Amino acid sequence: NKQVLVKEFFSGFPKDSDMLFTTSSINLKLPEGSNGVLVKNLYLSCDPYIQYLMSKPSLPSNIDSVQPGSPIRGLGVSKVIDSRNQNFREGDLVWGLTGWEEYSVISSPGYLFKIQHTDLPLSYYTGILGMPGMTAYAGFYEVCAPKKGETVFVSAASGAVGQLVGQFAKLMGCYVVGSAGSKEKVDLLKSKFGFDEAFNYKEEPNLDAALKRYFPEGIDVYFDNVGGKMLDAVLLNMRIRGRISLCGMMSQYNLDRPEGVQNLFNLIPKRIRMEGFVVTDHYHLYDKFLEMVIPLIKEGKIVYVEDIVEGIENAPSALIGLFHGRNVGKQVVVVDSQ
Ligand code: NDP
Repeated sequence: NKQVLVKEFFSGFPKDSDMLFTTSSINLKLPEGSNGVLVKNLYLSCDPYIQYLMSKPSLPSNIDSVQPGSPIRGLGVSKVIDSRNQNFREGDLVWGLTGWEEYSVISSPGYLFKIQHTDLPLSYYTGILGMPGMTAYAGFYEVCAPKKGETVFVSAASGAVGQLVGQFAKLMGCYVVGSAGSKEKVDLLKSKFGFDEAFNYKEEPNLDAALKRYFPEGIDVYFDNVGGKMLDAVLLNMRIRGRISLCGMMSQYNLDRPEGVQNLFNLIPKRIRMEGFVVTDHYHLYDKFLEMVIPLIKEGKIVYVEDIVEGIENAPSALIGLFHGRNVGKQVVVVDSQ
């Protein structure tokens, strides 16, 4: 069983030396009395929160950390090989919480969804049809409460979540601008995902001026994936009764001391609503979300870009790449495409 183990708790940017690629043996049958499932992992999802799971618990988090010596835990797409759980049968395709290894025993499969629609790429269940898709859906429709014609700004806009938020906003008839960290990503935002405008935040000496250029009348909705300086500049450019959904803070996770945001005062005179959210609180909407998104994919009204890496041995560098913006689109690792 090829595995990627946590070697050291992560601190700062994740490094190769924090993880260990190894091979061990596994019994391909579950013990009597188990209520779990044994799965063969097909695709693993590289997600920013994995950094939290592998860090010494310090920040308040709704996720338990993984101890050194254990396989990295994360979301993936898997096939059930053996089941002692009434909800799953041998041969079922599932997505949910698994291990960074070829085969995993999932003793309490609470965070495991049976895949019903197998006529779309299975890897999509690490992205558009899985947790990042639900994040974009809940964060945009539920938290941002957008209206047709509003102005929308999305940061980390070409990533797993951002590319969908931008497309949802366009479908709703909003004016949408995205920021990303390279020319290739900026081109993708405009040519593939249909953003009205996009810019490379790394090339903007003054983020406030950049936002004023794209939003001369201000921003109604900000979907924040990065926090920090970008959030601060956005606060200066929000419109009255604007909404900010705090999805993530990519620019802050690896800092010893997170950057202070200076411009919070703007929330008061502009009556801005700023709200953090956690996607798992919204999973009751999953079936409704699939009903909306699957036809959109099939009709070509929504596209999804994945950055696919072959081989579990390459998973550590793919994960590290997220924190340096090396992924173009949703970062997926193929363990076995069958
Ligand atoms: P992405 O696919 O967008 O990958 C991360 C991207 O973040 C990188 O490609 C990079 O893009 C950008 N980035 C990296 N470092 C920085 C930095 N210092 N400053 C600004 N941008 C940076 O990730 P996801 O779409 O999976 O996740 C997006 C956000 O959503 C994350 O903050 C994540 O934690 C959050 N999230 C929150 C959830 C919730 O329940 N609230 C659930 C899922 C995700 P670029 O080249 O453009 O800089």
